Amino acid sequence: MDDILIKDALIVTCDPAHTIIENGALTLRDGKITALESSDIASASSFRAKKTISANGNIVMPGLINMHCHAADSLFRGLVENLPLEEWLGRVWIAEKAILTPETTYLGSILGLAENLLSGATTVMDMFWYPEETANAAKKLGMRISTGGIFFDLPGIGGRSHEDYISEAHQFSQNHEADENVIPAILPHGSYTVSPENLTDAKRIADDYGILFCTHAAETEAEQNDIKTRYNNSVIRHLDEHKLLGENVVLAHCVHLDEKEISLLAKSKTNVVLNPMSNLKLGSGIAPVKEMKRAGINLTIGTDGAISGNDLDMWLAMRLTCGLAKGFNMEADALTAEQVLHMATINGAKALGKSESIGSLEIGKCADIIMVDVNNSHSIPLFDPITHLVFGAGRSDITDVFVSGKHVVENKKITGIEIEKIYDKVRELAPQIKASLE
Ligand SMILES: [Zn+2]
Repeated sequence: MDDILIKDALIVTCDPAHTIIENGALTLRDGKITALESSDIASASSFRAKKTISANGNIVMPGLINMHCHAADSLFRGLVENLPLEEWLGRVWIAEKAILTPETTYLGSILGLAENLLSGATTVMDMFWYPEETANAAKKLGMRISTGGIFFDLPGIGGRSHEDYISEAHQFSQNHEADENVIPAILPHGSYTVSPENLTDAKRIADDYGILFCTHAAETEAEQNDIKTRYNNSVIRHLDEHKLLGENVVLAHCVHLDEKEISLLAKSKTNVVLNPMSNLKLGSGIAPVKEMKRAGINLTIGTDGAISGNDLDMWLAMRLTCGLAKGFNMEADALTAEQVLHMATINGAKALGKSESIGSLEIGKCADIIMVDVNNSHSIPLFDPITHLVFGAGRSDITDVFVSGKHVVENKKITGIEIEKIYDKVRELAPQIKASLE
C-alpha cells in the first residue's frame, strides 16, 4: 500500500512534455512518486494509501529549486542599503565578522531556509561561512541543500587560511558523500576575491570528488573592470583560461557578458543562475537572458541572500526574470512563462546533476511536491496554470510542502521544528547585529 494519496489536484508536472493533469491524483511511497493519474482513473482502479489528502482543486507541482542563496545572511536583512556591490560588501563583511559564529550561522540558516521552504523551495544551493551549520539547519527543516567548502583570500571569518579552506572543503565533501539530502559543492566567493591559483585548487577538489563548483561571476561592471586591470581579461575569459568552466560549474549572476563570453559559457555547458532582484536592488544591471537562452545555456533562478535582494522569494524571482526579459528586449515573447517555470524547477535539478531524481513530477522521482492555493480572488477563473504560476501566484499561496514524501510544511506551518523559538533567539540577537555597524 502507498503511504500518501493526493487527489483532486491540478497537477503541473514540469516534465519534458509539459504535462498538466486536470483533476489528477498521485501516490507516494518510501519518498518516491509511484503513480500520476487523473482522479477518475485513480478512484476506478481504487488507489489505496495509508493517508489520503484532497488538494481541493489546488495546483500540485514540483518544489522550486533556489540555485543561489546565502540563507544565514537573513540575520542582516535591511542593515546595509543603497550602496553598489563593492561598497555594500565592505559593510556586510564588518557585520558578518562581528556576529557570525557556528551558533549564529545555524540560527540565520534556519531563518533563511525556513523562508525558502514556506515559499515552496524544496532545494536550495547555499554559499556561506560555516556550511556544516547550513547543512544541519536544512536537515532540521527536512529540506534538500547543496552547499560545501568556501574559499576567500581576504581575511575572512575565524581567521582561516587557504589551507584551512582546503581541508574544510575535503572534510565537508567526505562527510556528505552518501548523504541523500545534501549535495556537496565547492564554493569559492568570486574571481575578484580569490586568486586564479586558489580558484584552481578549489576546482581540483570539485573535480576529484565529482561535485559542483559554484562561484559569483560577472555580477557588476566594476568587477569586469577589476579583473581587466588585474589580469587583462574579462571575467568569463579569465575563468575559461584557468579551466574553471564546465558542466559541473554553476555561475551566479552573469549580468555583464559579451557575445564571446556567452558562447564560452554555452560551449563549456556551464550553468548560470539568474538573480534579478539582487541585481536590480544593488544597481548591478540586467542579465542578457534572451541571448543566453538562445545560446542554449542551462539557465536557473536564485534569490541571492536576504541582505541584497531583501527576500528569498522565488516567485518574485520568476516574475522578474520573465518580465525583465520581455521588457528589456521589447519583445512579448522573449521568454515564456513555461521556460521560466522550468528554470526554477527542472533546470535547477540539471545544474545540480539531479535531474533523474528531482525537478519534475514523474513516476520514480523523489516526492518533492508543493501545493499552490488557487481557490482565491487572484486565481479564479484559471485558464492557464503555467502563466498563473509565474505572473499571478505568490509565496503566500503555498499551503503544503513535501520533501521525499515527508510533509514538512502542513497548512503553512513548518512541522520539523518549533520555528517561533528560533524567531525569539534572532530577536534577542538583533540589538547586537544592529550595533555591529554603529
Ligand atoms: Zn551571492
